[in-house]
Amino acid sequence: MNKIILHRLIATLAIALLAFLCWLAAGMLSDRMVQQEMTSTVRTERQMAASIVDNMAQIIASDLAMSRAIPATLAQMDLIQRALAQSRHYASNPAPTESARRVEWTAQPGNARVNHFLHDAQGFSGLDSIWLVNEQGFCIASSNSEDENSFIGFDMSGRAYVTRALLGGFGEMYGVGRLSGEPGIFIAAPAYQDGYLVGAVIAKVSIDRLRHWVARAGTFVTDENGVVVMAHDGRLEYEAMPDAPVTHMTPRERLEHYRRETFPELRIMHVGEQMRESAHWLAPTLAESFYATNGGTVPSLYDERTGLNSGLSAHIVHPLTTWPEISRNHSRDRFLVFLTMLGVVTLAIVIATSYSRERRLHRATRDLAEQLQSANTLLSAEARHDALTGALSRRYFLDTLRHEIELARTAGAPLSVAIADLDHFKQINDRFGHASGDRALEHFVEVCREQLRPSDAIGRLGGEEFGILLPQTSLTDAQAVLERLRKRFHHEHCAHLPDDAALSVSIGITELAADDALEWILSRADLALYEAKSRGRDRSEVRPADPTPPARHPEDSLAGK
Ligand code: GH3
Ligand code: MG
Ligand code: MG
Repeated sequence: MNKIILHRLIATLAIALLAFLCWLAAGMLSDRMVQQEMTSTVRTERQMAASIVDNMAQIIASDLAMSRAIPATLAQMDLIQRALAQSRHYASNPAPTESARRVEWTAQPGNARVNHFLHDAQGFSGLDSIWLVNEQGFCIASSNSEDENSFIGFDMSGRAYVTRALLGGFGEMYGVGRLSGEPGIFIAAPAYQDGYLVGAVIAKVSIDRLRHWVARAGTFVTDENGVVVMAHDGRLEYEAMPDAPVTHMTPRERLEHYRRETFPELRIMHVGEQMRESAHWLAPTLAESFYATNGGTVPSLYDERTGLNSGLSAHIVHPLTTWPEISRNHSRDRFLVFLTMLGVVTLAIVIATSYSRERRLHRATRDLAEQLQSANTLLSAEARHDALTGALSRRYFLDTLRHEIELARTAGAPLSVAIADLDHFKQINDRFGHASGDRALEHFVEVCREQLRPSDAIGRLGGEEFGILLPQTSLTDAQAVLERLRKRFHHEHCAHLPDDAALSVSIGITELAADDALEWILSRADLALYEAKSRGRDRSEVRPADPTPPARHPEDSLAGK
């Protein structure tokens, strides 16, 4: 009972251990699967982010190139160049206030035409405003000359893009308009007359007109000072990149340039470590490329293109939207792999057990068959021999006789058959006991073995009657052999019988005829025996071959018993 409980306990522990190992292996396998899935997803998403940011950079470049072309073309025009050259005279001694300059310069002859032209050019080009700055940096004509607060008379000499143009180069930069308060890109082109620099043509493109740069989710654009000047998510605008140049500017410079002093830091953080806490399977190299802008649970990829025109940079924070699904898949995959492995292992155990059971059964069946075969061999050996004397059994003797008849016929050889019957055997039993009778029977068979050839056969036909088979022996030879045997039996005393016990045997002999039958041969031998008995016993008689059914002797045929 205890043994059964112990076996059950061991089996339960083994199953639990197996399930645990399967769970561990399933974990490793599903980790690998999800890692591969995540690697390929990140690769695809990174390509997508790169292509979005590349596309942004291209659009920015082409938009700015077109915007730049307008002031550059205007700077080539005679009307513009003349207006700028002429401003040298009336603006060489400018009025102290901006509004006084505006009134005075707007009224200058010829300027109305220029202002009108700039107004039309701004309307056609889709720019926000276009104005002219003379070599001292004062605005002398503008597309918004009609406005009360037009740029005319405004001293722009402090603007970096103006300075650059007045030194003969192209000036471009992001800024917030002083009067409009609107952010935009300022583009300045130098204007020459007769080889002398006379001023610059300046255009402003409002940021609102360029909103398509950040049409894709997660995109934003920074200026040369690292300030987000436009973003798909408007909340990011006027935030500054970590350690951006704007943080090193003085408050006055910031105010001048951006009309504001504070620039909260745009938080682009590495979140690989946090992600790995919730997803242990995430490879460290992959986790390194994970960012978040607001510490959300979905990681993002980050990419940028810096050094574009006007000092702009294009950025993208591209969220991995498939993250939750892939994380969920991991748990599901682990469970499925675990079930599959457990199924396979169970199946393997069932197959192995059935196989070993089948082997055991096969071995048992084989052993049983071997036992059966040896029992059969023993049985058939027993069936072939008489248990008392060791002579052939009646049935086997008759089979042997049938076989020898066939052989003799095929070979054309002689075959003699005899039936021997112990004389007055009943008296031996009666006088000396049944056991002595048995000894006498054994003795007769021993004498036969001694007197006959190994190829001859002796079988017990019943009681004290024996059949003798002499292959390749003629009737005459057989009689000689059997006479010798008879005499020997008569004279040799059996050691197991009392001295006064006399034994003798009568023998009937015949020979195989051409078309003989087994029954006929035995019948003839039986008749010959009958003759020997009736002629006084302890003798042998012959019946020659006679291929006709013999007449039965008056007593029951011995062969038929
Ligand atoms: P006959 O000379 O005419 O052959 O006379 P008989 O006495 O030999 O013949 P009978 O047929 O009258 O007797 C045969 C006896 O053999 C009878 C039977 O008890 C005995 N006997 C048969 N089988 C065995 C055996 O296996 N052992 C012993 N001890 N006796 C047997
Ligand atoms: Mg008898
Ligand atoms: Mg007898």
